[in-house]
Amino acid sequence: MIFIDEKNVEWQNLKAMKNIAAIKDLANNMKVKLDEEKPFGIKPDWYSTSINVYKKHVIFGETLLDDLNEDEQKNLAAHEFSHLKYHHFYWIIIVSFGIYAIVSLVLAKYVFPNELSLFIGLIPLFAMFIMIGKWQEYQADMKAVSFTKDKKSMLSLLDKLYQMKTKQDAGKLPPPTIMERVSRILHPSLVNRIRRIEKQPNLWFLNPF
Ligand SMILES: [Zn+2]
Repeated sequence: MIFIDEKNVEWQNLKAMKNIAAIKDLANNMKVKLDEEKPFGIKPDWYSTSINVYKKHVIFGETLLDDLNEDEQKNLAAHEFSHLKYHHFYWIIIVSFGIYAIVSLVLAKYVFPNELSLFIGLIPLFAMFIMIGKWQEYQADMKAVSFTKDKKSMLSLLDKLYQMKTKQDAGKLPPPTIMERVSRILHPSLVNRIRRIEKQPNLWFLNPF
């Protein structure tokens, strides 16, 4: 997941999506309500996926979709739908800023002057943001597989993402954008995501709801 970035998005010409009907069915099965007019968008020359949590759009990079088969595309969509279904964006904001408020208030009352407390409170804010972000990625992977029932395609999807990242880092593909770099900090490494899916598909703490 990368946060909202809707420049140059194509909403009509969705030919890079190999089976739109199957992906819409999947959204229905997962009880994810997408925007009725513009549920999906395609961004040319892009390797990532983005969701608009307010308008319920899912935007796929065309270059990424071109590289994936139908089942891998379904798992990619299921991962993004999980972020929407479990309201990940709202939880990460509420919990991180909640912790920030508590830490800053406690420090201001008992330890430091107010301004310094607000600054020091940023440390747990960022730490929570990164920890929760990574946990949410694992959860979105697990939930996606539990809906698609297709662990094999999820693993090959993650493997292709890994190959793409390796090519980007080696300069064989255009370098990651700033949003992609931010997103990398919030995601666990692809190697760890693959390991988690391979070994422990049903960890209880990733299935709390
Ligand atoms: Zn994600």
